[in-house]
Amino acid sequence: MGANTDREELIAALSAEVTDRRVLDAIASVPRELFVPEDQRPYAWENRPLPIGQGQTISQPLVVATMCEMLAPGPDDLVLDIGGGSGYHAAVLARLARRVISIERHPELVGQARQSLEDAGVENVEMICGDGSHGYPAEAPFDVINVAAAARGEVPAALKEQLAEGGRMIVPVGRWRQWLELWRRKDGELSRERVVAVAFVPLVEDG
Ligand code: SAH
Repeated sequence: MGANTDREELIAALSAEVTDRRVLDAIASVPRELFVPEDQRPYAWENRPLPIGQGQTISQPLVVATMCEMLAPGPDDLVLDIGGGSGYHAAVLARLARRVISIERHPELVGQARQSLEDAGVENVEMICGDGSHGYPAEAPFDVINVAAAARGEVPAALKEQLAEGGRMIVPVGRWRQWLELWRRKDGELSRERVVAVAFVPLVEDG
């Protein structure tokens, strides 16, 4: 089956659960095959996670789309993405926002992600190697924080502190299965709501 048909089928499947047209267009416009290893390319437009090396996975498109819809990044927004992995999720966010800073702890994945972003022509993502549980104080605060690895108990304090007024943060919380939590800062106060059950790899906190 051709790549275009695969792409159309994925977007049709996502449309049943995600209604934000900007998000669906962003997913359709990022060539996911450039963000997976060569042997996974035939499956790139399937709605499932795929292995990307280092025991990590590229997230399922439905999960990426759902998180983007809940975060609703605006064209002027500055985004912090924790757990950059393949760079795919960052690339989708970058279609919706002004600029994305993405942090990944595995240097091998950072190297691959930078190459994939370049190949895909994405110019507004900066991939940084490091421990994202400290956030990125140099460029804080962020309008949007996207956490793609599960916080075991508490959401790291640095991430809460680096959320701008009016900002939104999405973060999976829990050990094996997690709740996706949507945090908001309004009038200085943080609030959170549990949105949907998910399964992410753990956020490793190096201390
Ligand atoms: N968003 C990615 C997939 C995320 S998988 C994509 O689109 O491909 C989760 C990633 O979080 C893994 O690559 C893992 O190495 C990374 N990770 C886990 N703990 C981290 C931490 N403390 N700081 C930065 N990255 C972390």
